[in-house]
Amino acid sequence: MVLVGSNKGNIYVTKSFLPDIRIYESYVKQIFESCQLTNQGNLLKELESKLSQYLDINNFHYVTNGTIALQIALKALDIEDGEIITTPFSYVATTSAILWERCKPVFVDIEPNNFTIDVEQIESAITEKTKAIMPVHVFGYACNIDEIQKIADKYNIKVIYDAAHCFGSKYKGKSLLGFGDISTCSFHSTKLFHTIEGGACIVKDKTISDKLELIKRFGHQGDEHYCLGINAKQSEFNAAMGLSNLPYIEEIIAKRKYISELYDRELLGYIQRPKQQENLEYNYAYYPVLFKNETELLKVFEELNKEGIYPRRYFYPSLNKLPYLKDKFDCPISEDISSRIACLPLYYELSNDDVIKISKTIRECVR
Ligand SMILES: *Cc1c(COP(=O)(O)O)cnc(C)c1O
Repeated sequence: MVLVGSNKGNIYVTKSFLPDIRIYESYVKQIFESCQLTNQGNLLKELESKLSQYLDINNFHYVTNGTIALQIALKALDIEDGEIITTPFSYVATTSAILWERCKPVFVDIEPNNFTIDVEQIESAITEKTKAIMPVHVFGYACNIDEIQKIADKYNIKVIYDAAHCFGSKYKGKSLLGFGDISTCSFHSTKLFHTIEGGACIVKDKTISDKLELIKRFGHQGDEHYCLGINAKQSEFNAAMGLSNLPYIEEIIAKRKYISELYDRELLGYIQRPKQQENLEYNYAYYPVLFKNETELLKVFEELNKEGIYPRRYFYPSLNKLPYLKDKFDCPISEDISSRIACLPLYYELSNDDVIKISKTIRECVR
């Protein structure tokens, strides 16, 4: 984000939702009265329970962010080295979490309709060193969950979904956060549901869930030390923001749907969009559009920037092109999509007039 001088009136790709300040204040008052600021406090427990209920999932762990969620997921599944099959089309944290845990990311290209990992290409990337598959339900679109599970079962490897974009998305009537051995989520301020910073692990197996519970608080309970751990505990102030935002969630998703459909009408025939998925109830987390090529994308960005409008190149570059990777992978589809995809501004407060203005500028550039 370029913040030169005043950014007032500018339109960025997103704007954090903020609840009525009185709701947040009433939670802060509770924190001041209890004087418990962190360490699995009451508000954290309340948020974990409300989110489990809202999403209808078990073994839900609220943690400090979506990146540490991926890292402790690997730890809880005892994946300490080896190869992880993953997608090149995601935010950098998917790959960096793998590298940070001393594993090797093995990139498998994406399919062009929804930009998720191409299941047809997973098996040929499996070796005796493969420990897990880490796909991403990118933009809140569902991966081919059934096929991925079949492959994982066949080769006895784990599945960790980076479901950072999935809050509110449902696949075959169930939250998209509830699949694989572990799914992780992010509640960063830029995400659809946020707790300023925050994340989650949703664990299928109760034993692994109990282990993750220990790992996230230094591996011990009282004076009893069980395993290597880290600090992934979240504070009461973050939980308070989550509790304040949660009552608005349906309204937030409905508004995003409305804006997305307005863009659809304004931009029909001018840009390419992902394919609608049959079994998916979408959360409208993002509004990705594909331009004909990078030149067209850059021209649109230049014109929009002149009006103080800043869409983002989500996701660019294709992660197999990160400069600090040791191994080379060819992912032609991901590289092509990355070069010409952008997410348009989409947030609760975005006005009809702004959507119409953004769309008009795009139409004039690409016609
Ligand atoms: C935001 C994001 C993350 C990281 O989450 P943080 O809470 O910012 O650490 C991981 N993966 C994807 C796909 C993301 O978009």
